[in-house]
This record gives sequence, structure tokens and C-alpha cells, in this order.
Amino acid sequence: MTTEQAEHHTRDQPLSILYRGSLLSCNYDCGYCPFAKAQDSRESLARDAVELQRFVDWVSQQTRPIRILFTPWGEAYIRRYYQQAMAQLGNMPQVRRVAIQTNLSLTTDAIERSYSETLALWCTYHPSQTTAEAFLEKCAFLKGRGIRFSVGMVGNRDELGQIETMRKALPDDVYLWVNANRDEQADYQAQELAMLKQIDPLFEQNLHHYPSLGKTCHTGSEVISVDGSGNVQRCHFIKQSLGNLYDGTFQPTLAPCTNQTCDCHIGYIHLPHLDLKKHYGEGLLERVPETMTPHQHT
Ligand code: SF4
Ligand code: SF4
Repeated sequence: MTTEQAEHHTRDQPLSILYRGSLLSCNYDCGYCPFAKAQDSRESLARDAVELQRFVDWVSQQTRPIRILFTPWGEAYIRRYYQQAMAQLGNMPQVRRVAIQTNLSLTTDAIERSYSETLALWCTYHPSQTTAEAFLEKCAFLKGRGIRFSVGMVGNRDELGQIETMRKALPDDVYLWVNANRDEQADYQAQELAMLKQIDPLFEQNLHHYPSLGKTCHTGSEVISVDGSGNVQRCHFIKQSLGNLYDGTFQPTLAPCTNQTCDCHIGYIHLPHLDLKKHYGEGLLERVPETMTPHQHT
């Protein structure tokens, strides 16, 4: 298919955008994370805010249906300018979803500031950084407010007890996902894997390095990754530029994947042959499965 055909094919289709701005800072200090307690200067935060507003302005001019997932390097949701931008975006008629990856450390007032009916939250609980009680209080607020969300944890082998405790404490209809700890994956014992699969019925899907070279992937056409300058890549993992959103040079592509494998949830969910939409439906972007039955405790 030519570029022109690809453009025509995708012009009126819904577009999902993974936005990752310049912000690098985080208020948490997770041992394994390069952004732990990283700080942004006042100038870099100001630049990030200007870039974000430019993105909001660009979205406001679009007519095709748009879904947005903020996938910051650090923790962006604690920033007031993200909360305000999310509310602004979420109230645009063409915007169907505004979601963000967050440690959920912000106040309930701040969550309220970001509210729209399209809001969805990808919340990660870090037991080394906050108490289960504090995290669960926020979850109770989200549930009471009718905000779509899922909760996730990294499957660290020394935190399996906390994962189990969190599963028991969360309401049954809140999905708890577990990401395999890649460094420890080879060490998981059979009973640990069984426990994690029992806690997260979709955990099995996170255990693979999916061969993706030459495979059709919806990124590049239905899903794109955008940085603070508006530069577009098909996904976070393939650096080749598809142009820029703001200067009109963005060219969608229907070309197959050029990486050997894909092992990150925000990537492999867009491989159509894995058919993961059957689990997530409209919640694909924010990792809230539609087909999940309320969790059954053993
Ligand atoms: S909350 Fe997320 S970004 Fe912040 S230190 Fe932990 S893993 Fe890193
Ligand atoms: S399969 Fe993964 S790495 Fe390949 S294009 Fe899709 S998201 Fe990117």
C-alpha cells in the first residue's frame, strides 16, 4: 500500500495517541526505576507545560475520534497542568478517552480537577513507597466517583505477599494486573506463577517476548506515539520518525513491525493476531478489560 493509500485509509479512522512529554521527574523512589526521585528544573517543567498545551490545541482542531494515553517517563498526574489539560481534552466531543499511567499519589481534589466522563486511570501500586491503606483510599474514591481504572503491580518476587494482599483488599470488580519482573522471570517458581495467574487471569500474556518482525501491527496507523515536540513514532519502541503532528509532515504507515520481538503491554496489545481486543474491548488503552468477571477469591 502506498503512503497516499495509507493516509486515505487512516484519515477518518479513530486514532489512539500515546503521549510522552519532556517530564522526567517522579515523587517516588522505586529501587528499580531510573526516574526515582528524579527532578525537573522549573524551566523544564515550564517547557513541558507549553508542549502539553500545544498538544491540547492540536487535538482541539481534529475531527476524527481520538483516544489518549499519557505514558510519562516519571509521574505527570501530580502536576496541575496535566490535570487541567486532561479535563480540557476529556470535554472535547471528538475525544473518547483520556487515560494516564500514574502512581495515584495525588490528592482526590487533584483527581477531581482532571475529571471528565472520558477519564480512565492506569494506576500502579508500589508497596515500597506507600501504604496499602492510602492507596486503597484513593481506589475507593475512584470507584465512588465512577472513574474507570485498573490497578497494577510489578511481580517482584519479594512482594508476592503484598500482591496477594492487595488483590484481597480491592473490590472484586477492579482488575489487578501484574507485570512480570523481567529480571526475575526465569526464577519464578511453579507455585509463584500459579499464584500470579490466579490473581491476574491475563498474566500469562505478559510472560512472552512475542515475535513481531514482519507482523502486522496497528501502531503507525491506528495508534501512534507522540513526544513533546509533536514528533511521531509508530510506538515507543521503534525510533523511526513518521514526521511531526504540528507541521503536517506526519505520514501514517501500515508497514509491518521491524523489531524482532515485542514484550511490553502497551506495544503487543496492538498486534492483531494476538486478538487481545477480545479481552479489553473499549478498555484496551487503559488496561481495563471488559470481559473480566468479578474476581473470585480462592
Ligand atoms: S512511581 Fe513509577 S516513575 Fe516513579 S519511581 Fe516508581 S516506577 Fe519510577
Ligand atoms: S509489535 Fe511492538 S515493537 Fe512492533 S510495531 Fe507493534 S508496538 Fe512497535
